[in-house]
Amino acid sequence: MARLLITGGAGFIGSHTCLVLLEAGHNLLVLDDFSNSSPIAIDKVSELAGLDASSASERLQLHRGDIRNQDHLERLFTSAKEQGRPIEGVIHFAGLKAVGESVREPLRYWDVNVCGSWSLLKTMDAHGCRTLVFSSSATLYGLPDLVPIPESAPVQPINPYGHSKAAVERLLADVFASAPDAWRIANLRYFNPVGAHPSGRIGEDPLGIPNNLFPFVSQVAIGRRPRLQVFGSDWPTPDGTGVRDYIHVMDLAEGHRAALDYLFAEDSQKITVNLGSGIGASVLDVVKAFQAASCRSIPYELVARRAGDAAITVADPSLAAQRLGWRTRRSLADICLDGWAWQSANPNGYRKKEA
Ligand code: NAD
Ligand code: UDP
Repeated sequence: MARLLITGGAGFIGSHTCLVLLEAGHNLLVLDDFSNSSPIAIDKVSELAGLDASSASERLQLHRGDIRNQDHLERLFTSAKEQGRPIEGVIHFAGLKAVGESVREPLRYWDVNVCGSWSLLKTMDAHGCRTLVFSSSATLYGLPDLVPIPESAPVQPINPYGHSKAAVERLLADVFASAPDAWRIANLRYFNPVGAHPSGRIGEDPLGIPNNLFPFVSQVAIGRRPRLQVFGSDWPTPDGTGVRDYIHVMDLAEGHRAALDYLFAEDSQKITVNLGSGIGASVLDVVKAFQAASCRSIPYELVARRAGDAAITVADPSLAAQRLGWRTRRSLADICLDGWAWQSANPNGYRKKEA
């Protein structure tokens, strides 16, 4: 089993992936600055994985730090080597992800997402660690012409967040081309990650008012928000509301394990795959499914379209099935049941009081 560095491992997708990787037997070093997460998430992961105090220090180490701090990265890689257990691979989640914020603060997005990835790659290369799974995004496809979207669709982001992810994919392509016999790289383009671990003990914990549909719906159900605004009811979709490919975060976590297994098993290479279900759900489908799962009513009002939205974004997930042997197993009903288990047990997320 490998020793892995998980950047951003305390975040939403990172915490669920840490659990799946621990269950698969890997040993993890988590590096996170907690700018959008809480160390409590890692405590919960440790409990869920059944680690006791002695095994936890070996299997799940938490380091508070910024991926842009090269000295810190250097110390992590060096001390792992000195312990005789070098870091063999990295899953790189750390980054910023809010589209609207990226429009207001492009310099910060390029700094954290692009410069942060650059400093990580530089340190990995210097230490001969050349296996990387990168959190990319379906946002790269912008307003797609073809749905379901294959990986061959043009990369045409429409906001600074998307540009920053495209820039990192570009950087990874250049780094790979410089030493194709050495690097193993997987760009995973996620569609809409939602839901929570079925225990309800780890989940998504957005700070402030959620921008995304699923956490917003879930906060309306628990009574933290009065109603949902549905952005547009005149889209060219069956019920007029926007259609997305919602993927259960546990399916996504398992996708990372599959990508890592693939990279370790195969020759050096770079692959780019969509992680999505291939199934579209409208905003009103999500509202109905969440009402059924929570037995709560979710008031909503139909309002104008949100700028920059696409009508339909759905993955063609066939390449992931072919190459990684991975496909989603959980339905929208599972997503809502598990999301509600998390929201109802933790009305204010990992905090005791509302943020
Ligand atoms: P998240 O915000 O919950 O997790 C990101 C983690 O990175 C957080 O724990 C945060 O504290 C940490 N972090 C941020 N900047 C850092 C820095 N400079 N140094 C160290 N740690 C830092 O987000 P998530 O939803 O878990 O997303 C994980 C990754 O997946 C991100 O790169 C995101 O862009 C990408 N992604 C997310 C989605 C989505 O809808 N959630 C979709 C596509 C891609
Ligand atoms: N949406 C909505 N109300 C909200 C948030 C989102 O109607 O408060 C819609 C949005 O217009 C889109 C879908 O829900 O059609 C998913 O939006 P989200 O922001 O979650 O994901 P993304 O647009 O990034 O795919």
